[in-house]
Amino acid sequence: MPKKTYHIITFGCQMNVHDSHWLAGVLTKRGFAQAPAESAGVILLNTCSVREKPEQKVLSALGRIRQITGGSSDVLVGVLGCVAQQLGDALFEKSSQVRLIVGTDGLAGAPQAIEDLLLNPRQRLSLLDFTRHYVEREDGETSSPVPSAHVTIMQGCDNFCTYCIVPFTRGRQKSRTTEAILGECRTVLGRGTREITLLGQNVNAFGQDKSGDGTTFSQLLGRVASLPGLARLRYVTPHPKDMGEGDIRDFARLPQLCPRLHLPLQSGSDQVLSRMRRGYTRSDFLTLVDRLRKARPDLALSTDLIVGFPGESEEDFEDTLNTMRECAFMSSFSFCYSDRPGARASLYPDKVPSPVAQERLLRLQSLQEDLASRWLQGRVGQETRLLIEHPSPKQECASSTSWQGRDPYGTPVHVHLPPQKDHTGCMVDATITLAKKHSLMAVCPGTP
Ligand code: SF4
Repeated sequence: MPKKTYHIITFGCQMNVHDSHWLAGVLTKRGFAQAPAESAGVILLNTCSVREKPEQKVLSALGRIRQITGGSSDVLVGVLGCVAQQLGDALFEKSSQVRLIVGTDGLAGAPQAIEDLLLNPRQRLSLLDFTRHYVEREDGETSSPVPSAHVTIMQGCDNFCTYCIVPFTRGRQKSRTTEAILGECRTVLGRGTREITLLGQNVNAFGQDKSGDGTTFSQLLGRVASLPGLARLRYVTPHPKDMGEGDIRDFARLPQLCPRLHLPLQSGSDQVLSRMRRGYTRSDFLTLVDRLRKARPDLALSTDLIVGFPGESEEDFEDTLNTMRECAFMSSFSFCYSDRPGARASLYPDKVPSPVAQERLLRLQSLQEDLASRWLQGRVGQETRLLIEHPSPKQECASSTSWQGRDPYGTPVHVHLPPQKDHTGCMVDATITLAKKHSLMAVCPGTP
């Protein structure tokens, strides 16, 4: 029987990172040990279909696994996530080592499937059915407390933006019940977590589906914010078209809600936004930003941007740059458009040539660097409160006591703290002294 050791390779978004973390926790609780890919008995590939060439990435990862394991049939390989959902049982034909295929709604059943397959080396299993409701998962947290935790509130999406295949790979929107979410939040807070990030593809639409229990997103936020022990609350990802009055007011009424919002713009051109089927115009977006900033004057925004969407003209692109300037995004994720088979935009004929899109991406990223640098410089001299996460990765010397924490904006901040104490999970007051390229330095009162 293959060894009860596992190795997880994760591609893609925060949801995938969270799913892999959960799976690792459950396998550990079931007696598995983590191991390098070279010696693991079970290798799991958690896949993503959002970035470019997802299928090729999975196939080349399967090739690498075959190489490092010598193609051994003693190694159980499982493919999970969006690409598994898309390709389905065809993945069995891609590598004889693949004996488990788990789609996005099948994850809850993956740990038991792995155990069953280890006992039955001739068997193969696929868990690909979409479910009508969110399937609750067994507790995957290990005993070690983490200062910051993610809690999933929903799965899937009903929006069908024309460049995206999430509604096909993760299925239609399914909200968790409020009680299940609150239960998980209480559990992580009970273990010492101070900050919770609520996760979903379109969090503002929480509860507005067949699985919803009538609770709105704003009501859910209020209930999570009032849980004892919670210091900070965040969420990702909101949708500009679904952010209602209540969601805006929450930034004024809930002190636990951090003054940072990742609000995907995608494009600043009305023509492009309409062809993306985003459901808002540039002016709607700017009005929303204005209302959010009135509710929370210290709010910082980050965003997602797609460059070179089919039909994007130079003028459309300039609209995006101008919108970025008006919103003064502190950071952004940006990439060139590429076709996703199955998504509507892949059928649009007027593709932007790759060199043009690449050149625009460089200009956009250069503008973002300026905006980010200005935002970070503007923080110097400000007082803030840090949630300490771990010792700084780069210690200046052996006796250094530099720790890394995050401020309410989620920026990494390095600070010296008294020696001989584990500061993980502590909240400390600090003053920002220096801005680096992607992080900040700070001092605490009374600490050199
Ligand atoms: S809102 Fe649009 S981009 Fe986001 S997951 Fe849904 S379909 Fe994809």
